[in-house]
This record gives sequence, C-alpha cells and structure tokens, in this order.
Amino acid sequence: MTKFIPVNEPLLNGNEKKYLMECIDTGWISSEGPFIKLFEDRFAARMGRKHAISVSNGTAAIDVAVDALGIGPGDEVIIPAFTIISCVTQIIRCGAIPVLVDSDPISWNMDITQIEAKISSRTKAIMVVHIYGLPVNMNPVLEIAKRYGLRIIEDAAEMHGQTYYNKPCGSFGDISTFSFYPNKHITTGEGGMVLTDDDGIAETCRSLRNLCFQPDKRFVHERLGWNLRMTNMQAALGLAQLERLDDFIARKRAMGLRYTKLFSDLACVQLPLTHTEYAENIYWVYGLLLDESTGLDSQEVMKRMAAKGVGTRPFFYPMHLQPVLRRMGLFKDEQYPVAERFYRQGFYIPSGLALTDSQINYSADAMREILS
Ligand SMILES: *Cc1c(COP(=O)(O)O)cnc(C)c1O
Repeated sequence: MTKFIPVNEPLLNGNEKKYLMECIDTGWISSEGPFIKLFEDRFAARMGRKHAISVSNGTAAIDVAVDALGIGPGDEVIIPAFTIISCVTQIIRCGAIPVLVDSDPISWNMDITQIEAKISSRTKAIMVVHIYGLPVNMNPVLEIAKRYGLRIIEDAAEMHGQTYYNKPCGSFGDISTFSFYPNKHITTGEGGMVLTDDDGIAETCRSLRNLCFQPDKRFVHERLGWNLRMTNMQAALGLAQLERLDDFIARKRAMGLRYTKLFSDLACVQLPLTHTEYAENIYWVYGLLLDESTGLDSQEVMKRMAAKGVGTRPFFYPMHLQPVLRRMGLFKDEQYPVAERFYRQGFYIPSGLALTDSQINYSADAMREILS
C-alpha cells in the first residue's frame, strides 16, 4: 500500500532553516525583527507595488484592506459568489453589504459581465478574487471601477508570481492582498500581506495591523485596530520562499500540464484552462469539474479517491448558501447556478509543491479508474 498522498505539502528546502536559525540565534522572534522589512520590501518589489504591509494571515489582510478603504455601514461591495468566507468577514462585521456575481463556467473566475448590473448608488468597491491559478480579466473591471468611481480590492491569495498581460497580479487596483498559508505558492506557515501604491492607505494599514498605536502618544487611540503583526520567524520563512518563487511557479506549471496530459482523453471532466489570452495557468490547485452526466458528484468521487489513498478538497461553498450569512437575511431568493454547480461537481487533487511526478501519476491513475 502506498503512503497516503496529501492534497498539499509545502517545500521548505531552501534558506528557510538558515534564516529561521538566525532568528533564534539573535533572539529576534517578534514583529520587530529585521526579516520583516526585508520580506516586505522584496515582496513589494516582486509584485510591482510601492508598499507592502505584512500581517498574520490572508484573511487579516482582507479585513485590513476593507477597513483601510473606509468601507462602512450600508456600503455595498461587489464580490464573486464563488470564493472563500475570508472575503466577506470584515464587510459583514462593519455593517456593509456583500453583493454577489456568479462565475464564468470556463475560467472559473467571477463573471465580469455581471458586475455593472449590480452597481447601485451605495456601491463602494469591487473585490476581485483570482481563482485557482488564472487571473480575472482585469482591464474591463478597472474600466468599470474608473467610470463609476469605485475602489478595487484585489485578493491575490492564489496568485503569487502570476501575471496579467505581463503585469504582476497583486499590482492592480487600490489595494491588494496575499496569503502565505502552507498551500499557497509561497508560505510562512500562517501569514499575509497587504499591498498598495498609495502612501496614505499604506500608513492606515500599518496602523490598523498594530492596534493603531500612535508614535508619540503610544497608548492613546484615535481608531480601533487589531494586533495582526507577522513575526520575524514567519518573515524569515517568507524571504527564503520568495527567493524561489520563479522555480515554484515553473514547477506548478509543469505539474498542471502533466495532469492535463494524463487526463486529456477523459470526456466526463472539465479541466482547468491551460491559459487565457492574458495569462498561463499557475495551478494554485489542480481542480476538476465532473460532468453531471456521470451521475457522480464531488462528495462521492472524493470519498473514492480517499479509499485509494489520495487526498482531495471540495471547491468553495458559495457565499449565498452560507448558513451564517443566510441567517442574517442576506441573499434571500438569490441564485448563482454556476457557483452552485462548482461546489456540487468540483474538487481538487494533490497539487502541493512537494508532490513528485510519480505521486501525480498515481493520483491521475486513481482518478481515471474511478471515472472509467
Ligand atoms: C487562502 C485564501 C484566503 C485566506 O488566507 P488565510 O491566510 O488562510 O487567512 C483568502 N482568499 C483566497 C482567495 C484564498 O485562497
């Protein structure tokens, strides 16, 4: 019996240990340590942004972004129905309203043709979320935002190193966010980053992540913030990981193309697009969408994959079906059929950076046996 193949395992065999030992040897383990600024500066440079503000995770990065843009009670923010709950937590907590759009059935990203119809006099921002490895078609979204005077938050948690027409993802709109959870292209264990080109927004973000302490009146507060500081140890890992981002992206692309080739004759699943007009897929995860004609849904296939020793995860559960949000009276009678089908029929298979070619072959074989 082969060892269980986990859905994700990170790769930590660069300078991670060396930099981490430096934290311990020097005693710099808090957010005050020198790796924080190094990591922030290099990350900002890599993503083509003026400012990077490290935080404790990707959800925190979105929370800070929403608050920093002054989104508050009654404001509306347009977001995809098919995303992670992290996108709505601060919108809800501050009394704003998430307004949903469905997904594009081919690219799996938000259907940008639905955005304009959702704009009202209360709309304040569009939160763009790049899904699974391919960027949202940004130019039309930027154009709509400009025409209606809306802010753009770019959730690039799944897009480290990806580009849109050769411009880095995470460099678009007023503010963008990243996560460094272990299944992302680079990881710090837990961690996140907020990016912006705006000096004022950057200053607000720095203040919000650090309890809004004031430099000259330390314990006097004019605004409520959070303690979302990243530690020097996380930044040490992040720096070592960032050094290898190009290799990681190349490896992820090779893994994705390998799966695609192994599945090329399977008629009953939709595979991720290898590329669009503006980007080549970086396969944050390798997702599969089962045809309903198979009579199988994602739950059933994931169970059968587990029995063969292969880890999987379901696709996101759409926001309009989230019990916690429905109990608040949100999204009554709203339907987003594409996002609903994604949840019912979609799941992803092992895609982490530590995955070997033979594990890819094994996982693909398991999948093919189940579907044949
Ligand atoms: C992972 C992820 C997040 C959340 O990041 P955490 O670090 O896990 O809090 C947010 N948005 C998207 C699109 C993600 O994939």
